[in-house]
Amino acid sequence: MELPRCELVSWEMVERWSDRLEELIRGADRIPGVLVGLTRGGWVPSRMLADRLGVKKLYALRAQHWGITATPDGKAELTESLHAPLQGEKVLVVDDITDTGESLALAEEHVSSLRPGRLESATFLHLTHSKFRPTYVGEEVPRERWAWFVFPWNYWEDLRVLSRQAAGSPADVSAVRETLRERCHLDVPLEDVRRALQGA
Ligand code: ADP
Repeated sequence: MELPRCELVSWEMVERWSDRLEELIRGADRIPGVLVGLTRGGWVPSRMLADRLGVKKLYALRAQHWGITATPDGKAELTESLHAPLQGEKVLVVDDITDTGESLALAEEHVSSLRPGRLESATFLHLTHSKFRPTYVGEEVPRERWAWFVFPWNYWEDLRVLSRQAAGSPADVSAVRETLRERCHLDVPLEDVRRALQGA
């Protein structure tokens, strides 16, 4: 399997995208009444927006995706439906990133069947090749800058998967760290690689 090029996302970047989304949403005078966060990736982003926009009604909708090691043509899936009173509400669906855009497209379709009064969407990152464009975007990423974005809430999971992929057997921690640095552009502490391999 090809190890993907990665970009490590800091909490500072997360704060910046949250601020940007707040600015866009307030600027458009479109404060939602209800937020729906796609889990798991949209869980933290939706909570941060709930805080910034002063929205009390926050629901989670579970979507599954192909993940870091599979192929991007795998299908996204909604594994559960949302049980929330959305009828007539101004709803904003939130996720971390639109890559293929499949998850958000499916989520919007499902949420719209619950007859909201208004339906919009927001993501921190939007890959411009995505087939679905959210209403609000924190930052656009052109195709040439595609990377696997290692968000702070997915750090250990991604590191476990990548370290396992990069490890020979027996795993040499320094060699794994070097492979992650060279092939994934991921510069992480040796101790973190050791911990990831233990949990892998
Ligand atoms: P899918 O076809 O897998 O549903 P999406 O673009 O809808 O693709 O993304 C679904 C989820 O997969 C995102 O919310 C995010 O958590 C994760 N994801 C997809 N692409 C990336 C990426 N390039 N970097 C980090 N996470 C990603």
